[in-house]
Amino acid sequence: MFLVLLVAAGLYFVGRAMGVSHRARISVLVVLFVAVLFFQVTLPAGNPLREATGGSLKNWLILAGVVGLVLSYRTLLQRLRARVAPQQQSVTSDNSFKPEELDRYARHIILREIGGPGQKALKNARVLVVGAGGLGAPALQYLAAAGVGTIGIIDDDVVENSNLQRQVIHTDGRIGQAKVFSAVEVLKAQNPFINLRPYNRRLDEGIATELLGDYDLILDGTDNFDTRYLINKTCVALGLPLISAAITQWEGQISLYHPAADAPCYQCVFPQAPAAELAPSCAEAGVMGALPGVVGSMMAVEAIKWICGAGETLSGRLLIYDALYADTRIVKVKRRADCPICSDKNSG
Ligand code: ZN
Repeated sequence: MFLVLLVAAGLYFVGRAMGVSHRARISVLVVLFVAVLFFQVTLPAGNPLREATGGSLKNWLILAGVVGLVLSYRTLLQRLRARVAPQQQSVTSDNSFKPEELDRYARHIILREIGGPGQKALKNARVLVVGAGGLGAPALQYLAAAGVGTIGIIDDDVVENSNLQRQVIHTDGRIGQAKVFSAVEVLKAQNPFINLRPYNRRLDEGIATELLGDYDLILDGTDNFDTRYLINKTCVALGLPLISAAITQWEGQISLYHPAADAPCYQCVFPQAPAAELAPSCAEAGVMGALPGVVGSMMAVEAIKWICGAGETLSGRLLIYDALYADTRIVKVKRRADCPICSDKNSG
């Protein structure tokens, strides 16, 4: 028996030295084992070949049992490790930080809730911001500064003189320029270590699924209900989290909508678009200039928290900021069983 094991070890290690694959070497060992079993079963006791290969079937079966146990234990361990591995990979798979980046993000990395893994998650994150206006602009600036690795911006507007009272990403000299390109110019100058993808067009039904599907998280800073509902519907269908905010006059509100994580969708909370006269646009109702700065920055805060898994998100909670009275309220929001967007898909 010892001789056979010696031959087996010899075949295995000589094979390895010659560059034979692990699989092929194991196959040879299996053939050898089957041959030995064959000799033990078919040859009569005392036969020289049967004696030379162990002389008894029992010892070989015990050995096979032990090897089998060891192999199943190893497979189990590998499976358990594979379960843990994906998270670690998302943090370490991308190319590492340059020294300038480490220095740039040092104040993040020092935070216990972000740290190195959180900063890596930011670098690997892909965030789409819909609208490069009042809310989108400050969100974009802080996401870019925070080192979010891939940022998409979609908007079909051009910079207007009347935008500049609040949309501080744009400048007087860029009036008439597409907002996405005006924004990209600023973001690129702010942080050259990130990828920026401008889409100078309106988000419509035809491209929504394909475009949003390229991202991990969507920020909605648009100013009309049709686009809001389209973004919500697409996010629900794709299982994407949506940070949606809105402002008017002195008040803003923001929440994170994510039915895939049992939070309501936007339409659970706002089932119908209000009549046009009840929801005047900023142009009609007015808006205090610093308000989008506050609420848009909150969108960036919530995005960064979500990406890093830090603290508690606004999932299932609607935050309302009343700038005129310096008052902040949080309202619990729930999924609606009859929501036309998220209930059918998730109840089945
Ligand atoms: Zn819903």
